[in-house]
Amino acid sequence: MRIVSLVGNRPQFVKAAPLCIALRAQGEEILVHSGQHYDPELADLFFDELGIPSPDHALDVGPGTPVHQIAIMMERFEHVVRDEKPDAVLVYGDTTTTLAGALVAAKCGIPLAHVEAGLRSFDKTMPEEQNRVVTDHLSDVLLCPTRQAVDNLAAEGITHGVHLVGDVMFDAGRMFAPLAEHRGAPAAHGLEPGGYLLVTIHRAAATDTPEALGAMVQVLSSLGRPAIFPVHPRTRAKLQAGGRWDALQDVPGLILAPPVGYLDFTSLLMGAEAVVTDSGGVQKEAYFHGVPCVTLRDTTEWVETVEGGFNTLTGMDPAKVQAALAELSMPAERPPYYGDGHAADAIARAVVAELG
Ligand code: UDP
Repeated sequence: MRIVSLVGNRPQFVKAAPLCIALRAQGEEILVHSGQHYDPELADLFFDELGIPSPDHALDVGPGTPVHQIAIMMERFEHVVRDEKPDAVLVYGDTTTTLAGALVAAKCGIPLAHVEAGLRSFDKTMPEEQNRVVTDHLSDVLLCPTRQAVDNLAAEGITHGVHLVGDVMFDAGRMFAPLAEHRGAPAAHGLEPGGYLLVTIHRAAATDTPEALGAMVQVLSSLGRPAIFPVHPRTRAKLQAGGRWDALQDVPGLILAPPVGYLDFTSLLMGAEAVVTDSGGVQKEAYFHGVPCVTLRDTTEWVETVEGGFNTLTGMDPAKVQAALAELSMPAERPPYYGDGHAADAIARAVVAELG
């Protein structure tokens, strides 16, 4: 079986690390990189560090609005799909790359498999929600990380080709935790294990208006304890363009760092007192490593982490963030919300069984 997989940004590279191995054990994988993330610290570093095979095709989409990027990616990806004539196209997650890949597969009549199917925030203003809803409705094989995701699909009438496989990010977490443990990233930044917060912020809702940037700066200024914030290039550019970057340099205890690779990030996460984030993947990774999470959003796709008491939704509200940080806790038992760490094998098997 020949599968064309499309990746294009940081969380997709993390998910591809275990899945490339599993797919190649079952058949032939042709890996395509859309170029949605092109900064070396968001792309090349991940291929090197995580041992991801070199892409067979690069779409080199480069910067632009999501609509521009989707148009360019679709045009270039169509050529790849028509040349390679795969048995299936596989896309990951909920990004611009995901949507472009799904639309091309549908238009070319190639069966589509979606990793991380069924997740919903029920907030259609989120670009990610738009991307994942459309992709799920075009998919032939829907690879769900959680029971909730299966239920969400059923509520939309999607029941065929649905597989509960577990979360491939959990596989990656298990694969790389032993390496990350020895990185010593907290000490490299002068941080005491257990004595700092790890911050990530990159979603459009947090960066794309002056009001949102103002709220972000307020939250970052009021953390009141040592914190490290590896700043996504997009967030940095928005803060600089909005005239907010310089003010952040003077916040006591706040380290503004460039984005770090997955191993250093995991090392920082494992040593953190808590994570403060608007990322999807990082909420789960906090759970995997038993670190309390404060999520700077009003909704999450990973509802089980909130219901279980592992994650608190605060929005970008300094008072709510303060309250959550004052009551950090980590329940002793972590139920297996995300499977058994072998999601990649289950995905490869399900794709072959459905489309091979
Ligand atoms: N990550 C990383 N370095 C960083 C920040 C995040 O390696 O400086 C990793 C993190 O461990 C997770 C992934 O990037 O695996 C999450 O990506 P991101 O937050 O950009 O995307 P989302 O999950 O929100 O779609």
